[in-house]
This record gives sequence, structure tokens and C-alpha cells, in this order.
Amino acid sequence: MNIDQIFKNNQDWVQEKLTLDPNYFKNLSEGQSPEVLYIGCSDSRVTAEELMGAKPGEAFIHRNIANLVSNLDLSAMSVINYAVSILKVKHVIICGHYGCGGIKAAMESKDLGILNPWLRNIRDVYRLHRAELNSITNEEEKYKRLVELNVQEQCVNVIKTSEVQIAYRERDITVHGWVLDIHSGKLIDLEIDFDHILKNIMEIYHLD
Ligand SMILES: [Zn+2]
Repeated sequence: MNIDQIFKNNQDWVQEKLTLDPNYFKNLSEGQSPEVLYIGCSDSRVTAEELMGAKPGEAFIHRNIANLVSNLDLSAMSVINYAVSILKVKHVIICGHYGCGGIKAAMESKDLGILNPWLRNIRDVYRLHRAELNSITNEEEKYKRLVELNVQEQCVNVIKTSEVQIAYRERDITVHGWVLDIHSGKLIDLEIDFDHILKNIMEIYHLD
């Protein structure tokens, strides 16, 4: 993909939008009120808007390696704060994907420099679910299961935030855990029991 082509594509996109609606960019410039916060992997194949069919203005997006939500990540925490407290999104989605390089790297013991502390978050997920993961003998199946469990634990990390706890008391908000099956392109809803997780962790993480 060359840079000149990107600018050409952009011009074509502007034309296409204006042909359909001459006020398209005027309306877009007036503000945003997305109902969805999507947190996914930076992987170039897992394109947030395209896989959901979301148009500009419909989804607030945060992506990083292996779709992690860390308390110490100022960027992710700011995104959650703004999306939940100010934009008042109704849905927070954590979307992982099979074939995730970040998850794969965390399953190996290679020293990856600056990536080590980041991938350690995934090793923590492994440790929490060690009994289940160690019982899976097929490596490919174990890898897929860690992708799913990582999504589940990142949902828990979202639920632990004060913004989501406050929003949950005041209005409708749901946290969803999804996986994109890179082999078929299909989205899988892990059907995480949001209410159950929230009640379960409240004993420890409850904030007044
Ligand atoms: Zn990935």
C-alpha cells in the first residue's frame, strides 16, 4: 500500500460520501454520540469498524496488542473514562481474535524486550486459569482458549473501573466479550455473564 494511493483513496471516499449526502461532513463535524466502545487488538487483519459494519460516529475505538485493559495504561483508562462517563456509551466490547500474535508470544518464553511487561498481563491470565489450560493437550486448542480467557479477564478489568461501576448503578451499560475467528471472519459472542461477574467482584472492588 503506497502513500500516494492512500491519498487517492481518501479523495474517492470523500467524493463517495458527498454524492450520497452533500451534508455528510457538515453533520459529522457537529459532534459524536457513539453507543459503542470497542477495545480490540492492533492486528492489521482485525479491522474494528469494517468487521462490525460501523460507520463514522458509531463506535469509539481503542486498540493495542492483544486487546488488554491494564489499570496502569493511562491511554486505555482515559478512553474508558471518556467513553463511559462523557459519551455515555451503552456497550463496551472487548474483542480478541484467534491467531493473535500477542497471545502466542505470551505462551512462549522468549525475551521480547519492551513487550515483556505488556505480555506479562497475558501470563497473569494464564496463571489464573492454569488448571484449565494445562488440562488441554492440543496446543492449538490451548492457544484458542487463552484468547477467550484473555477476553474474559479484560472484561473483568473493565468492570473493575469506577466509571463502569458508577454507570452500572445509574443507567443501562453492558460489557461484551467477543472473539473474531480469523479463519472464517465470524464474530463469536463469548456470552460473558456480566451481572454475575459484577456481583462476584464487587466484594473486593466495590467503590462507593
Ligand atoms: Zn492480536
